[in-house]
Amino acid sequence: MSRQILLPGSAGVSGDQQTTLGVMGGGQLGRMFVQAAQAMGYFTAVLDPDAISPAGLVSHYHVQTDYLDQQGLAQLMQRCAAITTEFENVPAPALRTLGAVRPTAPAADAVAIAQDRIQEKAHLARGGVAVAPYAVIENAEQLAAVPEQLLPGILKTARLGYDGKGQVRVSSRAELTSAWQALNGVPCVLEQMLPLAAECSVIVARGWDGACVNFAPQLNLHRQGILAVTQAYEGNLPPAQVEQAVLATKSIAEELGYVGVLCVEFFVLAEGSPERDALGALVVNEMAPRPHNSGHYTLDACDVSQFELQVRTLTGLPLVQPRQHSAAVMLNLLGDLWVDGVTPPWDQVLALPGVHLHLYGKLKASKGRKMGHLTVTAESASQAHATALAAARVLGIEAF
Ligand code: ATP
Ligand code: MG
Repeated sequence: MSRQILLPGSAGVSGDQQTTLGVMGGGQLGRMFVQAAQAMGYFTAVLDPDAISPAGLVSHYHVQTDYLDQQGLAQLMQRCAAITTEFENVPAPALRTLGAVRPTAPAADAVAIAQDRIQEKAHLARGGVAVAPYAVIENAEQLAAVPEQLLPGILKTARLGYDGKGQVRVSSRAELTSAWQALNGVPCVLEQMLPLAAECSVIVARGWDGACVNFAPQLNLHRQGILAVTQAYEGNLPPAQVEQAVLATKSIAEELGYVGVLCVEFFVLAEGSPERDALGALVVNEMAPRPHNSGHYTLDACDVSQFELQVRTLTGLPLVQPRQHSAAVMLNLLGDLWVDGVTPPWDQVLALPGVHLHLYGKLKASKGRKMGHLTVTAESASQAHATALAAARVLGIEAF
């Protein structure tokens, strides 16, 4: 598909419809999109039901309605020349409504696939890398027919999961049955529990013309189902898997006809395990139709960030292959750090060289809530690692 390029500042009147970009969702990803768009001279509008949201706080315009509110969607379309999304649970029908009238990226169809693990798995398998063995559980017959080989496993709701929510680890049929009942019998997939050596992700940006650029794979450490640490530097993963993960991500984007920023998460299986012999070293886990937490380091360590690429894909500006100029380690800052409501000692952390602090303007810290992140940049991987460990020590984050 070809289309008109939306140049910033080209209309002469700032803030008019031709130079305003919209985003569905007001979370931190929306905030960083808005900030990237504004840095390039665009105006921004955020649609989010909350009166106070990380993106709403920094955007020129805020449409405060539910995602499916027809008046809210009409206001957003009237305000904006093109619209993106920052939150994968924004209902696909809302994006379909927007996409009928304005350039919308990613498209509703791609988001709909990513929103449903059952459809997502079928699609991911087309990237040429195996998915974790799984069974679909939508009724009692499918529950009873689950093959023994999938236990122990992880039961995941087909829809609306994130940060490990909607997931239960089960080791027997009895546990599986009660876990599915506890999830109210909603459609689920049961995945075989795989022996992981590591986890990684690849972020690509694909334009309207099919041009596709990528960041190098990130090495990700999760704790309690939530991303804790991302390490981004050469040598973080074996070269064979780096190449395979990038190729698979690009073909997944291609197969979807995807426009926008896409992240695909992978498992690296433990060496010598029977699962690795059967499936290969790399297994694809899931995709996110948007910039990703594991790509936040690109703001500080690359010459083009994932959010700038989101702006470029949305506006039809050229995509360039990003260049990483520093080794980087990113630490997520969860609400757990605000012990008894006390602000963490940012001054001590910022005394360390190469530390970049990003806080999302969330007013309430709670356990597991992503409040911000911190990126350490350095000339070498070992230096970035050492400084990140020092920062973790100051903040009381477990070493890695
Ligand atoms: P996200 O916040 O990335 O959207 P999510 O809630 O969608 O997370 P998953 O990515 O499916 O969840 O799983 C969260 C984490 O749980 C994974 O990163 C991994 O550490 C672990 N995990 C998930 N599935 C498996 C599996 N089949 N075998 C082993 N570990 C797994
Ligand atoms: Mg995940």
